[in-house]
Amino acid sequence: MITATSIQGPANGDFEFVDGEALSETLIRRLKRRRQTLALAAISHAVNVALLAVYAAAGTISFTVVAIFAACAAGSVGFFWALSESGVTDRSSDHHFAAPYTATTFALLLAFIYIVPEVAVVFLCALFLVANVIALRSTPRQGVVAWTVITGGLAVLFGLADLPLSLPYGPPLERLATLLTFSLTIGRSIFIGVFASTLREALYRRRVELEAAYKRIEELAELDELTGSFNRRCIMRMLDDEIVRAQRSKLPCSIALIDLDWFKRINDSFGHPTGDEVLRTFAITIFANIRSIDKFGRYGGEEFLLVLPGTPHEMAVQMLDRLRSITAALDWSAFSEGLSVTISAGVATLGPHETPDTLLARADRALYAAKERGRNRIGSA
Ligand code: GH3
Ligand code: MG
Ligand code: MG
Repeated sequence: MITATSIQGPANGDFEFVDGEALSETLIRRLKRRRQTLALAAISHAVNVALLAVYAAAGTISFTVVAIFAACAAGSVGFFWALSESGVTDRSSDHHFAAPYTATTFALLLAFIYIVPEVAVVFLCALFLVANVIALRSTPRQGVVAWTVITGGLAVLFGLADLPLSLPYGPPLERLATLLTFSLTIGRSIFIGVFASTLREALYRRRVELEAAYKRIEELAELDELTGSFNRRCIMRMLDDEIVRAQRSKLPCSIALIDLDWFKRINDSFGHPTGDEVLRTFAITIFANIRSIDKFGRYGGEEFLLVLPGTPHEMAVQMLDRLRSITAALDWSAFSEGLSVTISAGVATLGPHETPDTLLARADRALYAAKERGRNRIGSA
């Protein structure tokens, strides 16, 4: 059956390319698909020719007719193969030349129903298969057009020409030919269906992969690469949201600006990679010791912002002091002999009508005071 070419319609969306590299890749991929579908078309033709040959052997038709059909089929596949190889089709929006090829196939099959109505069953079955393949990629409109054209062609044949149509069912060989015609039509029809479900399956898998990639991109856009905590943009947005929520619900909301003590010295004494490791481990430690509703993000460098929704001031100070003592008690010498890490933090609790900026400024002043008082302690605004 010829129109396997229409399997790969413009619905692929592969017209889009951005630069020379992508363009040549697209052209190569299209050419490969066209070759594949034309090869499938040629195989289907060969099946039709073989069926006609069995009818010829049974004496239903002459071998000359078989040879003429084989020549016409080979000619049409060869012609479109040459067009495809020359790249002419790439200049058309229908780069598979699906419409002209389908029309050629219809014309060929209808012509042979007229020429050898004794074996019309072979060509009528081929028309079914053509319709199946068209349906794989067509829009509803294209489907209706194809259906109308086939019906029109059949109407002309059945209505105007007085054809002796019948189902060949004489000698055993002729019966065998008819049996094979139905069997191979059903077989090819199943193949087309299976091909369609493979396509659908591939598309589904592709969608799942894309969704996973999109989710990962979203995560990357929200997370700090080094520590895995929220990045500055994200934690600031969360702070804004929590403030709005706290003001609406009249629940308390506290924040803490946390800064690693003497971090420059840690870098200088133990190396930048160890400094990075300290930041990562510190972040993991905090994550392990805060509630799921708390938001923890990297504010910049070795400074972090912790948002504590629903938390009154005293409780926030206590929570921070617990985090401070956990950090100080960690066995940091596992990273490097002699390494110890402490943190200082400034805690502030949202006042009525306060903005994120003033709240942060108060927490920052409290942090500064904690540093002034000797570090490894919590300042309270
Ligand atoms: P203080 O106790 O007053 O906070 O002293 P400090 O040394 O921690 O403060 P300072 O702001 O002088 O130094 C911060 C250092 O943090 C300087 C910078 O090189 C280092 N730093 C910032 N970001 C990173 C990072 O991603 N990795 C590493 N290893 N170091 C960082
Ligand atoms: Mg510091
Ligand atoms: Mg700092």
